[in-house]
Amino acid sequence: MVLDRINFLKDELNKHNYLYYVEDNPIITDKQYDDMFSELKKLEEDHPEYKTPDSPTQRVGSVSEKFFPYTHKHRLYSLDNTYNYEDLEIWYKKIMEEYGSDVELVCELKIDGLAISLTYEKGLFTTGVTRGDGVTGENITTNLKTIRSIPLRLFQDIDVEVRGEIYMPKTSFEKLNEENIEKGEKTFANPRNAAAGSIRQLDSSITAKRDLSIWVYNSIFENLPDPPKTHYESIQYLKKLGFKVNPNIQLCKDVYEAIEYCKIWENKRFELDYATDGVVIKVNSFAIQNDMGFTARAPKWATAFKFPPEEAITTLENFELGIGKTGAITPIALLKPVLLAGSTVSRASLHNFDEIRRLDVRKGDQVLIKKAAEIIPKVIKVVETEDRPSKYPYRTPRRCPACRARLETRVGEVNLYCPNPDCPAIMKAKLEFWASKDAMDIDFVGPAIIEQLYSKGLVTNPADFYKLTVEKLMTLDLVKEKMSANVYNSIQASKNRSLKKFLTALTIKNVGKETADILANEFGTLERIKNTPEEEFAAILGIGGKIGSDIYDYFHDEKNLKLLNELESLGVVPPPVELPKSELFKGKTLVITGTLTNMSRDEANELIKKYGGKAGSSVSKNTAYVIAGINPGSKFDKAQKLGVIILTEEQFLEMIQAEDKG
Ligand code: NAD
Repeated sequence: MVLDRINFLKDELNKHNYLYYVEDNPIITDKQYDDMFSELKKLEEDHPEYKTPDSPTQRVGSVSEKFFPYTHKHRLYSLDNTYNYEDLEIWYKKIMEEYGSDVELVCELKIDGLAISLTYEKGLFTTGVTRGDGVTGENITTNLKTIRSIPLRLFQDIDVEVRGEIYMPKTSFEKLNEENIEKGEKTFANPRNAAAGSIRQLDSSITAKRDLSIWVYNSIFENLPDPPKTHYESIQYLKKLGFKVNPNIQLCKDVYEAIEYCKIWENKRFELDYATDGVVIKVNSFAIQNDMGFTARAPKWATAFKFPPEEAITTLENFELGIGKTGAITPIALLKPVLLAGSTVSRASLHNFDEIRRLDVRKGDQVLIKKAAEIIPKVIKVVETEDRPSKYPYRTPRRCPACRARLETRVGEVNLYCPNPDCPAIMKAKLEFWASKDAMDIDFVGPAIIEQLYSKGLVTNPADFYKLTVEKLMTLDLVKEKMSANVYNSIQASKNRSLKKFLTALTIKNVGKETADILANEFGTLERIKNTPEEEFAAILGIGGKIGSDIYDYFHDEKNLKLLNELESLGVVPPPVELPKSELFKGKTLVITGTLTNMSRDEANELIKKYGGKAGSSVSKNTAYVIAGINPGSKFDKAQKLGVIILTEEQFLEMIQAEDKG
């Protein structure tokens, strides 16, 4: 019995290893793989007589025959991993028992890319090899030379072998997939597969076209007179040699600090433009590392804490049509509930009907879903099964499910639209949007309350919210005194939201929160916007002629003016925009590219505005400064071409500090 299960797991894991490492096309999630792996490990521990050298628990990865094989001078290992903090504590306690209570740890982000080793002789890059099965890898030197962040010559003429992770930035991965969709080519399931598929191309000119980069995290020095004594020092040294090392490394005095780091990055990682699937925790001292050594597969001095899985496989039970505030119809997948990134999900976005056709997803299919920065996960692909439950492709609807109006297409857009301005679903979506966080941010008013308010005819336009009384609210189902007071108070509290939020809430065609922000800062009051001539809007940075006339039209439509007057008479009046704190960036546009390390993009944009500048989204010769974070994108190249001043994040902050000091 046990042996049967062991053999089954070995076969399954070997099959999935092949699909993952050689074909770059996994058909199960990493969590499913890891669960089978730990089951096998446990069975082998309990029954050592069944443990064989060909078991996946004794080996790393897999090698394909696409490239010339290359035997590594020093083996490359994998990492042991865990999904919980208790295991980390147990791991650390064992180390403490052996080496005392002050063993320092280093935390690094676990980059979800492709492991490689780079050899430098006398400072020159000579050989680059994939990890493969750890003993033998594929020689991909020519392809690696196309990656600009891999130095071809180091700042010192030394011999060193470094290990790192090749990755594709998330934005480039999405762009590549979009391009592939347009060309009718295969798309990649995630940035890791895209990076692996791009680097393992037989034609290096294809690799050269892909946006790949590297983070280096390990080194083996030869003949260095005074080599680094700790991992942390070695990373600083690698940086000095010219390697790209990840800035989010942290020295921790014990496992509790390491756990803190994991907790912070579990959420913060979504702000990064590269995929991470966990945190790698390493013993800092090389002396202790050497003493601890390796198992057949992984170092004993390091472990990986894996973030809760962002991907899952489940059944698509049905399709639902969502109707947005603009009338756009969005197909939604109703799923058999499944645990994903720590919460149960039962819906996923399918974007539009072209996407359904492209995925050829049908009712009853097994689908791979993924959670990224967005709240609602998306369907990535159909998992191939021998028998598909439905023989027929999905049929695109012709009529609006809410009002039965015939759906329309619009030039240059992939969405289908309900054209009926009085469609109840559109009205409700507009009201929901009015109350949402980005708009008037009305805490206690969600879709369920709006559904009731609308169907009872109590709220049919945004001004109606402000006419509600506690008594009226108590007529709603399941709304008792306390809830009714909460709803009432949160509506009242929204009356003086900022001009930006108010303009966003109006759902003016083509005006999202960014354009609303530009308008608010440019004009300062609603009154001024109302009285601005059409051509003036077009002249404002970031607002073209088309959007300009959409804004103008909105403020010259009788129905809209009636609503604005009504809101005003009910006391819904956005306060005038405050003047900037300083004129440091007055009349200047600043554009951010890459990932910032000290603040989020939103925070940086707020700073720009606070100091009198404008936050732009694209680089032109009118851009005053480009602030370049890590891994800057094409805006950086454009700025260089146009001779725009490029600031590092630190330089930008120094300018502000200098201004503050006066
Ligand atoms: P791994 O990805 O779990 O971890 C080890 C690797 O992490 C190292 O080899 C290195 O490449 C990388 N790494 C990233 N950042 C690092 C850092 N800062 N320091 C050190 N190393 C860092 O292990 P693996 O052996 O590459 O792959 C095994 C995992 O791959 C499995 O646990 C599973 O999740 C996944 N897998 C999935 C399938 C599937 O079918 N879905 C199949 C095979 C493997």
